[in-house]
Amino acid sequence: AGETAYQRTQVADLQGGAFFESTWHTTDKTVEVRDPEDGLLLGTVCSSTPEDVRRAVAHIHRHMQEVDWPLRQRRESLERAAALLRGQSARFANIIAAESSKTINEAEREVLRCIETLRLSAAASGELQGETLAFEDSLAGTGKLGWYNRKPVGIVAAITPFNDPLNLVAHKLGPALIGGNGVVLKPSGRTPLTGLAFIQLLLDAGVPAGRVAAIVAGPGVSEALVTDPQVDLISFTGGPKTADRIASSAGAKKILSELGGNNATIVCADANAGEAAQAIVAGAFGVAGQNCLSVQRVYVHISLFDRVLDDVVRGTKALRSGPKLERTTDIGPLISEAEARRVEDWVEEAKAAGATVHVGGRRHGAHYAPTVLTDVPSACRVIREEVFGPVVSVLPFIEVQDAVRAANDTEFGLQAGVFTESFSEALAIAEKLHVGSVVINETSDVRIDSMPFGGFKRSGVGREGVKHTVREMTEPKNTIIQLP
Ligand code: NAD
Repeated sequence: AGETAYQRTQVADLQGGAFFESTWHTTDKTVEVRDPEDGLLLGTVCSSTPEDVRRAVAHIHRHMQEVDWPLRQRRESLERAAALLRGQSARFANIIAAESSKTINEAEREVLRCIETLRLSAAASGELQGETLAFEDSLAGTGKLGWYNRKPVGIVAAITPFNDPLNLVAHKLGPALIGGNGVVLKPSGRTPLTGLAFIQLLLDAGVPAGRVAAIVAGPGVSEALVTDPQVDLISFTGGPKTADRIASSAGAKKILSELGGNNATIVCADANAGEAAQAIVAGAFGVAGQNCLSVQRVYVHISLFDRVLDDVVRGTKALRSGPKLERTTDIGPLISEAEARRVEDWVEEAKAAGATVHVGGRRHGAHYAPTVLTDVPSACRVIREEVFGPVVSVLPFIEVQDAVRAANDTEFGLQAGVFTESFSEALAIAEKLHVGSVVINETSDVRIDSMPFGGFKRSGVGREGVKHTVREMTEPKNTIIQLP
């Protein structure tokens, strides 16, 4: 306990609220950042204003007009940022684990992922190249030569959620910067310290101060950012309702959105039940289910149902819930007690509708015990909406097409898993699942940072995943020459 208190005191060194106009700002009006598990004060950030946003964007706009930042230097800065982060891994893991709901082990894994994202961002410099145009193949092209290459869209507003406070920031800032854009970060108000520390790391790595800003909390700040006429692209990760609000005020700007999931995993009759159950427990309860890829619904062929359910329940009982800063903890808290109460309400609703709770179903402060349900009517919120908490429903099926239909019967379409020993069955099911990624013999909870990542339907618009984001954040520009 002594060591964890010391680690969290270090986090409190991170005073200094907002970064814009190439400087750190502190104001009298501050917002406290507290550990969601026990309320310990971790630091303060500035309460920003719409005027701060306007100044931040105008400064970056001016800087981009006046100061060239060549691709080679952009790549070198991101390579240095990856190396600096490697050297500060423990510090960043402590900040993430203190202000978010991740366990220290989960926070350490996120830092490793982020090093990878920065490395991929530097390597994505190759995405900026173009190609020559085939003018001689067109009547209108007679006597002309030309080519295109890729140019930055301009200024990117990066708006990020609480559940991966470092790597999801890097997924926007890395591609934006290698693409030659300026970027204003608005991290989650629940986890701003990680994003601010990351901005300082980028500055230390050589990113010009005039290219980046971070604005945190304050009335009207988000609205000012998404409506600013000099912001060219909004890259948003968060909930679909927030995405609707952003889209309705942003007007005709380009918006990339990575939203929620309600992910299904299908376990066919010929699957390896033990392996499937083990993967389901890991995929449902990592980060206490606060993960857009979390396994929320599991459809199991009736012949394997009891076996898979028993193994899932046994695996869930073996998980250790506890304080997030303890090494032995598997399941930490939710981001707030209010969120844990919401999850509790949803499980109570399912129980009242006839669901059976096999394990879990209990709340203690911001902690909600990992919970396995069966017999859940399809109208319940734990089936219909994104739970974003440690609750999984296990449901039987007889015909595989019914499982596919049920898996697709949601407004989301992010990822899905399929367990089967039959290659052709796996491919047939994968073809029919309306999701951004199908994972065979694993659950929905699989992502590498280079893959095109995103979903159909309410799960978002566009794809993230470093080189894909670089393409989204740049546009082709033609240069055409009329020969004499
Ligand atoms: P959220 O939508 O509440 O907040 C996300 C961000 O939007 C925060 O920075 C918040 O301050 C900001 N915001 C809130 N209102 C705004 C407004 N009117 N205008 C502009 N910005 C505004 O989401 P959250 O609770 O932080 O995160 C959880 C959600 O994020 C879940 O739905 C989860 O599935 C989703 N998520 C998706 C992915 C993905 O890649 N698909 C990854 C992680 C999380």
